Amino acid sequence: MIPIYKCLDCENEFETPKTIEESHGFTTPPYEMIATCPLCNSENYKETYKCDQCGVYIDSDYIQLLDGSRVCENCYNKVDF
Ligand SMILES: [Zn+2]
Ligand SMILES: [Zn+2]
Repeated sequence: MIPIYKCLDCENEFETPKTIEESHGFTTPPYEMIATCPLCNSENYKETYKCDQCGVYIDSDYIQLLDGSRVCENCYNKVDF
């Protein structure tokens, strides 16, 4: 299961955060590497998951089944595991 990241600033969804160098005003390396949203360079993003049943992104709490798959509340209520 691949975690998806969702930016809380621009609502962009991405699989790989962009890594940028934060120099903190210094002109020489080493710079701090920070992971950001590829679209707006915000660090304000969170990990989210795709429902294994219906494929929607689960924004709130997911339900983890015994076999390790994660489903949204909708599917959990709908499907009889
Ligand atoms: Zn963003
Ligand atoms: Zn679902």
